[in-house]
Amino acid sequence: MLSAVVPEPTSWQADAACHDVDADLFFSLDEREQQQALAVCASCPVRRECLEHAIANGEHYGIWGGTREGERRRLMRDHRAA
Ligand code: SF4
Repeated sequence: MLSAVVPEPTSWQADAACHDVDADLFFSLDEREQQQALAVCASCPVRRECLEHAIANGEHYGIWGGTREGERRRLMRDHRAA
């Protein structure tokens, strides 16, 4: 998934569980597809790195690091307040 979003993968992205998964799944508005994406994230060995990347780069859309947009917005707000 991330290779479609970021052309030059960093070291952690090479280990992403979504490496060969259709990126559209992670940006779907369909609840069932979002659940499928979250299931991929649940077994991902670089989940923490992915979430840190999303927060640091202000990724507002899609599923990153096992989080949906609303949850990540709260984390970003907390991150800025800290
Ligand atoms: S946490 Fe999810 S979106 Fe992030 S690299 Fe892993 S599988 Fe992909």
